[in-house]
Amino acid sequence: MNDCVFCKIVRGEIPAAVVLQDELTLVFMDIGSVNPGHMLVAAKPHVENLQGMDGELAGAMFRSAARAARAIEAVFRPAGISVYQANGAAAGQTVFHAHIHVLPRWENDGLTFTWPVKHPSREELEKVAALLRAAL
Ligand code: AMP
Ligand code: ZN
Repeated sequence: MNDCVFCKIVRGEIPAAVVLQDELTLVFMDIGSVNPGHMLVAAKPHVENLQGMDGELAGAMFRSAARAARAIEAVFRPAGISVYQANGAAAGQTVFHAHIHVLPRWENDGLTFTWPVKHPSREELEKVAALLRAAL
């Protein structure tokens, strides 16, 4: 993709503070870091979102996320680590090239996330599970 910002980083056309890379992933510092140590695990091939990843790429992405998390643990000894991955504008995605955020967390660090629980019935859960199983 010619004007995709993360494709440009993967091709080395714009700078990034790279932490690690392998055949399928590139991990670099987020310019909009929420906390020091905030990294992005980006797919090397241009895929827009999680749905676009085959099993090999999905596995490589999470392997790199786990390596990034261990590096955060070693360097920052944080109170916690968050992993965040957005698919689609409604989910908060702003760069439409698949990536996973991995970042250190601290008590009261200002990052908030609302989780509007609905408590569906067991019957409703089973109905939706059946629909999803049929779509696999
Ligand atoms: P998302 O909202 O999940 O799509 O997140 C996109 C992230 O990419 C944001 O946190 C941005 O700060 C980050 N970002 C955008 N452009 C760059 C860049 N050139 N280098 C590093 N991070 C970037
Ligand atoms: Zn791209």
